[in-house]
Amino acid sequence: LKATTKQALWLLVYFALLLLPPALVLLAPRPAARELWRELSVGLAFIGLALMGLQFIPTARLRPLTNLFPVDDTYFVHKQTSMLAFLLIAAHPLILFLFNPNTVLLLNPLTAPTRAVLGVVAAIAVAGLIATSFFRIDLGLKYEPWRGVHTVLAPAAVILALLHMLGVDYYMSLPWVRGVWIALTVLWLGLLVRTRLIKPLRLLRRPYRVTSVEAETRSAWTLTLEPDGHPGIEFMPGQFVWLTIGRSPFSLREHPFSITSSAERTDTLQFGIGEAGDFTSQIGQVPVGTTAYVDGPHGDFTIDHHRGPGYVFIAGGIGSPPIISMLRTMADRGDGTPVWLFYGNRSWEDVYCRYELEALEQRLNMHLVHVLEAPPTDGQAWEGEVGFVTAEVLDRHLPPDRNGLLYFICGPLPMIRPVTAALKTVGIPGKQVITEEYEMV
Ligand SMILES: Cc1cc2nc3c(=O)[nH]c(=O)nc-3n(C[C@H](O)[C@H](O)[C@H](O)COP(=O)(O)OP(=O)(O)OC[C@H]3O[C@@H](n4cnc5c(N)ncnc54)[C@H](O)[C@@H]3O)c2cc1C
Repeated sequence: LKATTKQALWLLVYFALLLLPPALVLLAPRPAARELWRELSVGLAFIGLALMGLQFIPTARLRPLTNLFPVDDTYFVHKQTSMLAFLLIAAHPLILFLFNPNTVLLLNPLTAPTRAVLGVVAAIAVAGLIATSFFRIDLGLKYEPWRGVHTVLAPAAVILALLHMLGVDYYMSLPWVRGVWIALTVLWLGLLVRTRLIKPLRLLRRPYRVTSVEAETRSAWTLTLEPDGHPGIEFMPGQFVWLTIGRSPFSLREHPFSITSSAERTDTLQFGIGEAGDFTSQIGQVPVGTTAYVDGPHGDFTIDHHRGPGYVFIAGGIGSPPIISMLRTMADRGDGTPVWLFYGNRSWEDVYCRYELEALEQRLNMHLVHVLEAPPTDGQAWEGEVGFVTAEVLDRHLPPDRNGLLYFICGPLPMIRPVTAALKTVGIPGKQVITEEYEMV
């Protein structure tokens, strides 16, 4: 099946799961309808909860999905649809309060029936999920505690919501409606159990060892792992994994990193890691021999999925790892497809794999353009570009038949946005541009 067909099928499953509960309520025999506002309020909550439950799918790291949809798009959609789910769920009590002000009394846990208390706590859990995700940085919440909160609140919210619905026992009094909701909840929680329990158990049997950690630039390291007692993983160049170092695979302290090594080699895995925060700034101190776990590979940011007559890679700083993997793999495969690499960095000392890129230029049909904010001032004439990867820089180096090429951009969002705009300015259609953003929340 073509990737687009598979994507369409997955979306079909997604919408079917979303619309199944309300559609069944509408199509099958049901209890007598109540006031319109009450039915509307319940209907919105049903759709909101179904949408919320679906959020367990994109976060389950199912490889058939992660290898098909770009990771940044997946997390973007997850975030936006979660907000929509929250609004639909919040509409449920608000409509009740509006049309029947007495229902406000249900907010009092001392006098309200248990079913109402469960509903209120479920709604608070959903609000907590949204607030901590949309305002994580403003709330001063670090990534790992945020993940802990997320991992507890998400299942708590759906279980409480289900108990609330069972307690209200209106539509849920129909056995098949009850069956559908219980089955959906089991499916959602099953995905969580798979991600947090079954997958780590499998990873325990496939450990890796750190074989070297080398400083590559002032603030970036090359980490090398070797599989310990198993053949390692096969991956496509440009893919990433979730890496756990020196902790159990059940730990929430796992980070996504792109593989930099060639996909033609599975006996070692290499990563280029830039110092960004508490985990990455300690990477240089990881002792050789430390156990690591590798969950992956994931991602569709790869020339093995997006084949073209030529590739233009654009990286900023430590956004280069997936691109380096693609270049190394192309060199190992003897792939002569023309390649342009625009590599933006602050200074010459920040260029990751600077010498190897020169060597790769000899092995590949590659045009390498370094773009430095501060070019070297050691007296030698700087032959690269100065500043940022702008439309002018792209225009100067891209060939006239640039529209047919495929463009891969990787780095932080503040770099991806202007580069995507610059590509538009030089006439590159959006469908030719593939991006991978190094931020999830
Ligand atoms: C698909 C993908 C591939 C990546 N590949 C690389 C790579 O090859 N090389 C590289 O240097 N960096 C890569 N990153 C970025 C890297 O994951 C983060 O810099 C790192 O996790 C930061 O952790 P920290 O604790 O050092 O920093 P913190 O200060 O804790 O975090 C800095 C920022 O990184 C993000 N982040 C932190 N922890 C996580 C986590 N566990 N999962 C997801 N995001 C997190 C958050 O947005 C956070 O605001 C990649 C990110 C993604 C999403």
